[in-house]
Amino acid sequence: MFQHSLLGERTNLFKMVTGMVRTLIAGNWKMNGLKSSLSEVDAVITQLGDFPDAADCLICPPATLVVPMQERAGARLKVGAQSCHPEAFGAFTGDLSAEQLKDAGASYVIVGHSERRSEHGERSAYVQEQAHACLRAGIVPIVCVGESFAQRQRGETKDTVIRILRKSLPTLGSSDSIVVAYEPLWAIGTGLVPSDEEIAEVHQVIRDLLVELYQDRGADLRILYGGSMKPSNAAEILAIKNVNGGLIGGASLKAADFMAIYAAAVA
Ligand code: PEP
Repeated sequence: MFQHSLLGERTNLFKMVTGMVRTLIAGNWKMNGLKSSLSEVDAVITQLGDFPDAADCLICPPATLVVPMQERAGARLKVGAQSCHPEAFGAFTGDLSAEQLKDAGASYVIVGHSERRSEHGERSAYVQEQAHACLRAGIVPIVCVGESFAQRQRGETKDTVIRILRKSLPTLGSSDSIVVAYEPLWAIGTGLVPSDEEIAEVHQVIRDLLVELYQDRGADLRILYGGSMKPSNAAEILAIKNVNGGLIGGASLKAADFMAIYAAAVA
């Protein structure tokens, strides 16, 4: 709980001083990375020292790399994970609990990523259980949501996002925090990105929902954009109202690209 409270306090202090929500640049390595990939992390850690500490930086590697990444991370780089089981322990072969991930050094866990929803049949009710497990363990869940291309074409984007989030978002205790990541399914790994107006529209309805569900606190919770964010489009996307950071897949694997996105966040 201690590290989790500190995270919340740091974010709140930043908001009090600047009146802004502190940006989060988060990398999702998916099923990529061997021990040899830690050289990229070393490069990220070194380069972070060249930038002002004006945005949070997080990498969610495969579970095999959480411990070695955390051991070298230092103060500026946060380490997270990509999924968790809702239970704290037990006969769940091949799974990892939020408590185990916390023990390994994770301070964030991605839940409800579209690849988990489609490849592993994880439904929103399960995602909500995962988010509650994270909060129980003192971890910040990053709750992902997005519409398919067909849903966007049918004009169902906002309804879809809100319907999924209502079922996926957890109840928050007084010291709990969450992050929401808006990731249009058709933008993930495709090079396609919604227009600025489309991103702004969805982030606004997510903000409205967060305020409805969590009152004043909903105004401070971070909403990330994810889906083909890269150095060339990061500054423009990060400047959109209610975009409080990015969840980055492919472009997080190379330190140079990831740090170019971080540079856009702190510019
Ligand atoms: C993701 O899968 O979370 C993602 C945003 O991937 P990419 O940046 O590669 O589109």
